[in-house]
Amino acid sequence: MADKQYDLVVIGAGPGGYVAAIRAAQLGMSVAVIDKRKTPGGTCLNVGCIPSKALLNASHKYHEAKETNERFGITAKSVTMDIKKMLSHKDGVVSELTKGIGFLFKKNKVDFIVGTAKIEDAQTVKVAESKSKSSTVKGKRILIAAGSVPAMLPNIKVDEKRIVSSTGALELQKVPKHMVVVGAGYIGLELGSVWARLGAKVTVVEAFSKIAPTMDEEVGKELQKTLEKQGFKFKFDRKLVKVVEGKKDLTLHVLPTDLGEDSNKAPESISCDVLLMSIGRKPALDGLGIEHLGIQTNDRGYIMVNENFETSCPGVYAIGDAIPGPMLAHKAEDEGVVAVERMSGMKSQVNHHVIPGVIYTYPEVASVGKTEQELKAEGTDYKVGKFPFMANSRAKTISETTGFAKILTDKQTDRVLGCHIIADVAGTLIAEVALAMEFNASAEDIARTCHAHPTHNEAVKEAALAAYDKAIHI
Ligand code: FAD
Repeated sequence: MADKQYDLVVIGAGPGGYVAAIRAAQLGMSVAVIDKRKTPGGTCLNVGCIPSKALLNASHKYHEAKETNERFGITAKSVTMDIKKMLSHKDGVVSELTKGIGFLFKKNKVDFIVGTAKIEDAQTVKVAESKSKSSTVKGKRILIAAGSVPAMLPNIKVDEKRIVSSTGALELQKVPKHMVVVGAGYIGLELGSVWARLGAKVTVVEAFSKIAPTMDEEVGKELQKTLEKQGFKFKFDRKLVKVVEGKKDLTLHVLPTDLGEDSNKAPESISCDVLLMSIGRKPALDGLGIEHLGIQTNDRGYIMVNENFETSCPGVYAIGDAIPGPMLAHKAEDEGVVAVERMSGMKSQVNHHVIPGVIYTYPEVASVGKTEQELKAEGTDYKVGKFPFMANSRAKTISETTGFAKILTDKQTDRVLGCHIIADVAGTLIAEVALAMEFNASAEDIARTCHAHPTHNEAVKEAALAAYDKAIHI
């Protein structure tokens, strides 16, 4: 494979890189994708979206079978969970999906090269395939889709056994007695949920005063309340300062966030057997060689790009978690597609104002567009339409009535500016509103669209009705 010349060399086979590669091949480019992982799919398929959702589903089914079916007249005696089987199901799903990408690469004649990439110049990538073997791959253009890695505190050493990142939390071989999650973002809440449902006591330590700080506040409060009912304990405005590793347990030292370094206040001690560090993620750019190419990054280390996703080094592009914006798989995919389409002269674009986000807790939380707090802060005159799932007939029939749909509109034009849903199927419901927003729809457009009955989507319709006039069913 040495010195082979491609139209495009993609670094990273995550959702950004692999989708960009396939689209580029469809557009007639010769493409190579380099990834240090043997299995394509990046963080998302290997240690992110997919394995976490497999565990969330398994733990939800277990919890449901154990706790909640009696009201339907179903009694199940001695429900048990075989952790090994749960993990092996998860591994099976990951393996099938990553193989699927390998198949798509072959189908589209994309070369997949396993090794660590370093950019030598704007057309040359050096690939270390092992300690003793390296090759050079040439490309007319280079696309950086190197993604992200967990951010860590400098004094805390992750061993992926007792002190784990999200990757280790997907591999625990037994249910922790007490898991402390540092960081109440979506990853901490999702993985905390998995182990809480299987019986772990879960305490979340968060530096801010609320969960998922960028979430619409009303929805955040509802989610917090429901998670507390599920046994979560939250310690807000707290920071982890030290971990003492005992033979059996870990002792965490936690202090109020607003205390300075020189404070001599005695820290609170929390004992646990597993600590999950989920304080965020950072771009994975170490060793990639971007500095000597003069590629500009912002103050948080993300690569800066123009509307073509081209960096400050002509011919080198970047997408996904490596550039600013929400660190989400679908954002990376859409950017990958648009980046290579623009290389081909197309004028497609990603609408960064309409990127849905979902937290796969129970219930799920899904949002798109602005939160109420953002609209207030920017001085927009807005209206709110809300509808509770308690009054939605489908939710009633399946006994899943927690939550509500909330639609925010421009007071003058009725245009939808944001939507926030908390419900068991919120992640599926949000697509309707994302589509509406993409077409600049008004709340009336949504409300006058015929919605099937009985469906959860009727709650979205009713929230839209409530935003521009009055809901019918409440
Ligand atoms: P990545 O998926 O990170 O892929 C980058 C690839 O580049 C990696 O495979 C890496 O090995 C490779 N690479 C990096 N540097 C080099 C190098 N020098 N040489 C060779 N290869 C290199 N997002 C969602 O949208 N929905 C979810 O439900 C969701 N759940 C998540 C759950 C967890 C636990 C985690 C950790 C993340 C989750 N995410 C989710 C986030 C999502 O995984 C990322 O946003 C997404 O994977 C980013 O895609 P990407 O292509 O930019 O990078």
